[in-house]
Amino acid sequence: MSIHVVGHSNPDTDSVASAIAYANYLKATGTDAVACMQISADKLNPESKVVLEKFGLTAPAELTDAAGKDVALVDFSDLAQGPANLGSANVVGIVDHHKIGDVTTNGPIFFYAKPVGCTCTVLMEMYQNSKVDLPKNIAGAMLCAILSDTVNFKSPTCTNADKVAVAALLPLAGVTDQDALFMEMLKAKSSIAGVPIKDLLFRDYKDFDMNGKKVGIGQIELATLDQVASIRDDLYKAVQDQKADGRHSVLFMLTDVVKEGTDLLVASDDNALIEKAFGAKISGSSMWVEGMMSRKKQTVPPLQKAFGC
Ligand code: MG
Ligand code: MG
Ligand code: MG
Repeated sequence: MSIHVVGHSNPDTDSVASAIAYANYLKATGTDAVACMQISADKLNPESKVVLEKFGLTAPAELTDAAGKDVALVDFSDLAQGPANLGSANVVGIVDHHKIGDVTTNGPIFFYAKPVGCTCTVLMEMYQNSKVDLPKNIAGAMLCAILSDTVNFKSPTCTNADKVAVAALLPLAGVTDQDALFMEMLKAKSSIAGVPIKDLLFRDYKDFDMNGKKVGIGQIELATLDQVASIRDDLYKAVQDQKADGRHSVLFMLTDVVKEGTDLLVASDDNALIEKAFGAKISGSSMWVEGMMSRKKQTVPPLQKAFGC
Protein backbone atom coordinates (compact mmCIF):
# COMPACT_ATOMS: atom_id res chain seq x y z
CA MET A 1 0.00 0.00 0.00
CA SER A 2 1.48 3.34 -0.95
CA ILE A 3 2.04 6.04 1.62
CA HIS A 4 -0.21 9.08 1.33
CA VAL A 5 1.87 12.16 2.09
CA VAL A 6 -0.35 15.05 3.20
CA GLY A 7 0.04 18.56 4.63
CA HIS A 8 -2.33 20.55 6.85
CA SER A 9 -5.87 21.67 6.00
CA ASN A 10 -6.24 24.95 4.09
CA PRO A 11 -2.83 24.14 2.56
CA ASP A 12 -0.21 26.83 2.01
CA THR A 13 2.68 26.53 -0.42
CA ASP A 14 4.82 24.72 2.18
CA SER A 15 2.17 22.03 2.73
CA VAL A 16 1.80 21.53 -1.03
CA ALA A 17 5.53 21.56 -1.87
CA SER A 18 6.44 19.40 1.15
CA ALA A 19 3.92 16.72 0.15
CA ILE A 20 5.39 16.64 -3.36
CA ALA A 21 8.98 16.68 -2.12
CA TYR A 22 8.55 14.02 0.59
CA ALA A 23 6.55 11.69 -1.69
CA ASN A 24 9.33 11.96 -4.27
CA TYR A 25 11.96 11.32 -1.59
CA LEU A 26 10.14 8.18 -0.42
CA LYS A 27 9.83 6.87 -3.98
CA ALA A 28 13.49 7.61 -4.68
CA THR A 29 14.44 5.63 -1.59
CA GLY A 30 12.31 2.63 -2.48
CA THR A 31 8.94 3.25 -0.82
CA ASP A 32 5.79 3.74 -2.88
CA ALA A 33 4.20 7.12 -2.06
CA VAL A 34 1.72 9.62 -3.42
CA ALA A 35 1.60 13.38 -2.76
CA CYS A 36 -1.79 14.50 -1.40
CA MET A 37 -3.61 17.56 -0.13
CA GLN A 38 -6.93 17.98 1.65
CA ILE A 39 -8.63 19.95 -1.15
CA SER A 40 -9.25 19.55 -4.85
CA ALA A 41 -6.84 21.26 -7.25
CA ASP A 42 -9.34 24.00 -8.18
CA LYS A 43 -9.46 25.14 -4.53
CA LEU A 44 -5.71 25.71 -4.33
CA ASN A 45 -4.59 29.12 -3.06
CA PRO A 46 -3.44 31.59 -5.77
CA GLU A 47 0.21 31.58 -4.65
CA SER A 48 0.56 27.78 -4.81
CA LYS A 49 -1.20 27.73 -8.20
CA VAL A 50 1.43 30.10 -9.59
CA VAL A 51 4.24 28.00 -8.08
CA LEU A 52 3.01 24.69 -9.55
CA GLU A 53 2.41 26.30 -12.94
CA LYS A 54 5.79 28.00 -13.00
CA PHE A 55 7.67 24.77 -12.33
CA GLY A 56 5.38 22.48 -14.34
CA LEU A 57 4.19 20.39 -11.41
CA THR A 58 0.85 18.59 -11.06
CA ALA A 59 -1.22 19.44 -7.98
CA PRO A 60 -1.20 16.75 -5.26
CA ALA A 61 -4.14 14.32 -5.27
CA GLU A 62 -7.14 15.06 -3.04
CA LEU A 63 -7.22 13.18 0.27
CA THR A 64 -10.07 14.00 2.66
CA ASP A 65 -10.38 10.71 4.57
CA ALA A 66 -7.36 8.91 5.98
CA ALA A 67 -9.23 5.91 7.47
CA GLY A 68 -7.25 2.70 7.09
CA LYS A 69 -4.49 4.36 5.05
CA ASP A 70 -0.75 4.58 5.54
CA VAL A 71 -0.04 8.30 5.84
CA ALA A 72 2.94 10.59 6.30
CA LEU A 73 2.34 14.11 7.60
CA VAL A 74 4.22 17.20 6.45
CA ASP A 75 4.05 20.71 7.94
CA PHE A 76 1.75 19.68 10.84
CA SER A 77 1.10 16.99 13.45
CA ASP A 78 -2.23 18.12 14.95
CA LEU A 79 -5.23 15.83 14.46
CA ALA A 80 -7.47 18.90 14.03
CA GLN A 81 -5.47 20.02 10.99
CA GLY A 82 -5.55 16.62 9.31
CA PRO A 83 -7.95 14.75 7.03
CA ALA A 84 -10.98 12.98 8.55
CA ASN A 85 -10.21 9.82 10.53
CA LEU A 86 -6.51 10.61 10.85
CA GLY A 87 -6.78 9.10 14.33
CA SER A 88 -7.55 5.69 12.85
CA ALA A 89 -4.97 5.93 10.05
CA ASN A 90 -1.53 4.35 10.21
CA VAL A 91 0.86 7.30 10.55
CA VAL A 92 4.28 6.14 9.36
CA GLY A 93 6.20 9.41 9.11
CA ILE A 94 6.19 13.10 10.07
CA VAL A 95 8.40 15.89 8.71
CA ASP A 96 7.65 19.27 10.24
CA HIS A 97 8.80 22.62 11.63
CA HIS A 98 6.05 23.29 14.20
CA LYS A 99 5.50 22.34 17.80
CA ILE A 100 4.63 18.66 18.17
CA GLY A 101 0.88 18.14 17.94
CA ASP A 102 -1.41 15.44 19.31
CA VAL A 103 -0.97 12.70 16.71
CA THR A 104 0.00 9.39 18.32
CA THR A 105 1.12 6.12 16.71
CA ASN A 106 1.06 2.42 17.57
CA GLY A 107 4.47 1.63 16.13
CA PRO A 108 7.82 3.33 15.69
CA ILE A 109 7.85 5.94 12.92
CA PHE A 110 10.18 8.20 10.98
CA PHE A 111 9.93 11.57 12.75
CA TYR A 112 12.05 14.53 11.68
CA ALA A 113 11.27 18.05 12.88
CA LYS A 114 13.47 21.10 13.32
CA PRO A 115 12.78 24.61 14.61
CA VAL A 116 13.39 26.26 11.22
CA GLY A 117 11.27 28.53 9.02
CA CYS A 118 9.85 25.93 6.66
CA THR A 119 9.26 22.18 6.30
CA CYS A 120 10.99 22.28 2.90
CA THR A 121 14.18 23.36 4.69
CA VAL A 122 13.99 20.15 6.74
CA LEU A 123 13.31 18.12 3.58
CA MET A 124 16.25 19.72 1.78
CA GLU A 125 18.49 18.50 4.58
CA MET A 126 17.06 14.98 4.16
CA TYR A 127 17.74 15.04 0.42
CA GLN A 128 21.30 16.19 1.03
CA ASN A 129 22.02 13.76 3.88
CA SER A 130 20.71 10.80 1.88
CA LYS A 131 22.24 12.04 -1.40
CA VAL A 132 18.88 11.71 -3.16
CA ASP A 133 18.63 13.43 -6.54
CA LEU A 134 16.37 16.46 -6.45
CA PRO A 135 14.55 17.14 -9.75
CA LYS A 136 14.63 20.74 -10.96
CA ASN A 137 10.87 21.30 -10.73
CA ILE A 138 10.61 19.98 -7.18
CA ALA A 139 13.61 22.09 -6.14
CA GLY A 140 11.68 25.09 -7.54
CA ALA A 141 8.59 24.34 -5.45
CA MET A 142 10.70 23.83 -2.32
CA LEU A 143 12.49 27.11 -2.94
CA CYS A 144 9.14 28.91 -3.26
CA ALA A 145 7.85 27.31 -0.05
CA ILE A 146 10.83 28.58 1.93
CA LEU A 147 10.53 32.09 0.48
CA SER A 148 6.80 32.07 1.28
CA ASP A 149 7.04 30.76 4.85
CA THR A 150 9.96 33.09 5.71
CA VAL A 151 8.52 36.09 3.78
CA ASN A 152 11.75 36.19 1.74
CA PHE A 153 13.86 35.95 4.96
CA LYS A 154 12.05 38.90 6.62
CA SER A 155 9.93 36.88 9.04
CA PRO A 156 11.16 36.57 12.64
CA THR A 157 10.77 32.79 12.10
CA CYS A 158 13.54 32.66 9.44
CA THR A 159 16.75 30.84 10.47
CA ASN A 160 20.19 30.49 8.96
CA ALA A 161 19.28 26.93 7.89
CA ASP A 162 16.52 28.39 5.67
CA LYS A 163 19.02 30.72 3.99
CA VAL A 164 21.48 27.86 3.46
CA ALA A 165 18.73 25.72 1.90
CA VAL A 166 17.68 28.56 -0.42
CA ALA A 167 21.28 29.10 -1.52
CA ALA A 168 21.46 25.41 -2.49
CA LEU A 169 18.02 25.34 -4.13
CA LEU A 170 18.42 28.44 -6.34
CA PRO A 171 20.87 26.82 -8.82
CA LEU A 172 19.07 23.45 -8.68
CA ALA A 173 15.82 25.21 -9.66
CA GLY A 174 17.54 27.35 -12.29
CA VAL A 175 16.46 30.54 -10.54
CA THR A 176 18.83 33.53 -10.60
CA ASP A 177 16.66 36.29 -9.13
CA GLN A 178 15.32 35.32 -5.70
CA ASP A 179 13.62 38.68 -5.06
CA ALA A 180 11.85 38.62 -8.43
CA LEU A 181 10.53 35.12 -7.71
CA PHE A 182 9.29 36.24 -4.30
CA MET A 183 7.55 39.27 -5.83
CA GLU A 184 5.86 37.04 -8.40
CA MET A 185 4.44 34.90 -5.59
CA LEU A 186 3.50 37.91 -3.47
CA LYS A 187 1.61 39.51 -6.36
CA ALA A 188 -0.40 36.29 -6.80
CA LYS A 189 -1.03 35.96 -3.05
CA SER A 190 -2.07 39.57 -2.59
CA SER A 191 -4.12 39.82 -5.76
CA ILE A 192 -7.30 41.69 -4.89
CA ALA A 193 -8.76 42.12 -8.36
CA GLY A 194 -12.47 41.36 -8.24
CA VAL A 195 -12.46 40.40 -4.54
CA PRO A 196 -15.46 41.92 -2.67
CA ILE A 197 -14.47 44.46 0.03
CA LYS A 198 -15.97 42.39 2.87
CA ASP A 199 -14.04 39.33 1.70
CA LEU A 200 -10.82 41.35 1.89
CA LEU A 201 -11.66 42.53 5.41
CA PHE A 202 -12.39 38.96 6.56
CA ARG A 203 -9.64 37.19 4.55
CA ASP A 204 -7.50 37.11 7.69
CA TYR A 205 -9.56 38.63 10.52
CA LYS A 206 -9.86 37.84 14.23
CA ASP A 207 -11.79 39.28 17.19
CA PHE A 208 -9.99 39.62 20.51
CA ASP A 209 -11.19 40.31 24.04
CA MET A 210 -9.05 43.10 25.45
CA ASN A 211 -9.87 43.63 29.11
CA GLY A 212 -13.59 43.27 28.41
CA LYS A 213 -13.50 45.32 25.18
CA LYS A 214 -14.08 43.64 21.83
CA VAL A 215 -11.33 44.47 19.35
CA GLY A 216 -11.19 43.22 15.74
CA ILE A 217 -7.93 43.01 13.79
CA GLY A 218 -7.63 42.10 10.12
CA GLN A 219 -4.62 41.99 7.81
CA ILE A 220 -3.74 41.76 4.15
CA GLU A 221 -0.16 41.48 2.89
CA LEU A 222 0.67 43.58 -0.15
CA ALA A 223 3.60 44.04 -2.50
CA THR A 224 2.80 47.75 -2.50
CA LEU A 225 0.09 49.95 -0.95
CA ASP A 226 -0.74 51.09 -4.50
CA GLN A 227 -2.58 47.77 -4.87
CA VAL A 228 -5.36 49.06 -2.58
CA ALA A 229 -5.18 52.81 -3.30
CA SER A 230 -8.39 52.85 -5.34
CA ILE A 231 -10.45 50.87 -2.78
CA ARG A 232 -8.93 52.30 0.41
CA ASP A 233 -11.99 54.47 1.21
CA ASP A 234 -14.34 51.51 0.71
CA LEU A 235 -12.12 49.39 2.95
CA TYR A 236 -12.24 52.03 5.67
CA LYS A 237 -16.03 52.17 5.39
CA ALA A 238 -16.12 48.38 5.94
CA VAL A 239 -13.82 48.79 8.96
CA GLN A 240 -16.18 51.45 10.40
CA ASP A 241 -19.21 49.20 9.79
CA GLN A 242 -17.49 46.33 11.57
CA LYS A 243 -16.64 48.61 14.52
CA ALA A 244 -20.24 49.86 14.69
CA ASP A 245 -21.31 46.24 15.15
CA GLY A 246 -20.52 46.15 18.89
CA ARG A 247 -16.78 46.66 18.95
CA HIS A 248 -14.55 49.10 20.84
CA SER A 249 -12.02 49.15 18.01
CA VAL A 250 -11.37 47.62 14.62
CA LEU A 251 -7.89 47.78 13.11
CA PHE A 252 -7.07 46.73 9.57
CA MET A 253 -3.43 46.13 8.70
CA LEU A 254 -2.47 47.00 5.13
CA THR A 255 1.00 45.48 5.35
CA ASP A 256 3.60 46.51 2.79
CA VAL A 257 5.89 43.49 2.75
CA VAL A 258 8.53 45.28 0.67
CA LYS A 259 8.74 48.46 2.76
CA GLU A 260 8.32 46.36 5.92
CA GLY A 261 5.63 48.39 7.60
CA THR A 262 1.88 48.68 7.96
CA ASP A 263 -0.65 51.31 7.02
CA LEU A 264 -2.99 50.71 9.96
CA LEU A 265 -6.63 51.66 9.36
CA VAL A 266 -8.18 52.58 12.72
CA ALA A 267 -11.82 52.89 13.81
CA SER A 268 -11.94 53.22 17.59
CA ASP A 269 -13.78 54.68 20.59
CA ASP A 270 -10.38 55.78 21.87
CA ASN A 271 -7.90 56.93 19.21
CA ALA A 272 -5.45 58.15 21.87
CA LEU A 273 -5.18 54.64 23.30
CA ILE A 274 -4.37 53.17 19.85
CA GLU A 275 -1.80 55.92 19.22
CA LYS A 276 -0.19 55.20 22.56
CA ALA A 277 -0.06 51.47 21.84
CA PHE A 278 1.96 51.90 18.67
CA GLY A 279 3.74 55.18 19.33
CA ALA A 280 2.38 56.78 16.16
CA LYS A 281 -0.17 59.48 15.25
CA ILE A 282 -3.41 58.82 13.41
CA SER A 283 -3.73 61.06 10.41
CA GLY A 284 -7.15 60.91 8.75
CA SER A 285 -8.20 57.26 9.03
CA SER A 286 -4.86 55.57 9.56
CA MET A 287 -1.30 55.60 10.83
CA TRP A 288 1.93 54.21 9.39
CA VAL A 289 3.62 51.78 11.77
CA GLU A 290 7.21 51.18 10.71
CA GLY A 291 8.36 47.55 10.96
CA MET A 292 4.89 46.12 11.70
CA MET A 293 4.54 42.80 9.81
CA SER A 294 3.04 40.28 12.23
CA ARG A 295 -0.34 40.59 13.93
CA LYS A 296 0.54 37.87 16.43
CA LYS A 297 3.91 39.31 17.38
CA GLN A 298 3.66 43.06 16.75
CA THR A 299 0.02 44.17 16.82
CA VAL A 300 -1.75 42.17 19.53
CA PRO A 301 0.85 42.44 22.35
CA PRO A 302 1.17 46.29 22.37
CA LEU A 303 -2.62 46.58 22.17
CA GLN A 304 -3.11 44.21 25.10
CA LYS A 305 -0.67 46.27 27.08
CA ALA A 306 -2.48 49.54 26.20
CA PHE A 307 -5.82 48.00 27.17
CA GLY A 308 -4.33 46.94 30.49
CA CYS A 309 -4.71 43.18 29.87
MG1 MG B 1 2.07 25.68 6.65
MG1 MG C 1 5.39 25.62 6.95
MG1 MG D 1 2.80 29.48 6.17
